[in-house]
Amino acid sequence: MNDSCLFCKIAQGHIPSHKIYENDKVYAFLDLSPQNEGHILVIPKYHGEKLKDIPDDFLSEIPIAVKKISLAFEKMNGKELEYNVLQNNGSSSGQVVMHTHFHIIPRFEGDGFNLHFAPK
Ligand code: IMP
Repeated sequence: MNDSCLFCKIAQGHIPSHKIYENDKVYAFLDLSPQNEGHILVIPKYHGEKLKDIPDDFLSEIPIAVKKISLAFEKMNGKELEYNVLQNNGSSSGQVVMHTHFHIIPRFEGDGFNLHFAPK
């Protein structure tokens, strides 16, 4: 963990967040500026800027956490959560917070949200 990192502080409980899920390797919380209702961030409890910096035993927990979160949603709401998982890796890809994180962006029929990866 890095004392000057926002997401390390959040994972350690030094900065408040709306926690969604946690185990010894990952922490998941609501995004402060959601792209769509229920936008969640999943982070490893290991400080590394980019995907390549994260040890496999932390990284491998991320998709498992995503699955658990989606199943919990389904159990609570009686319907399947549909979503995009997005990871910005490096500033030119749009990464702003330099602690590796994965976005879970819930999707709803006709939500008009448009993910486009083609260059402008
Ligand atoms: P990035 O552009 O992939 O680095 O995404 C960073 C995300 O972190 C953005 O979606 C922000 O809204 C989110 N974010 C920044 N600060 C906070 C915070 O303090 N709490 C929760 N989410 C945050």
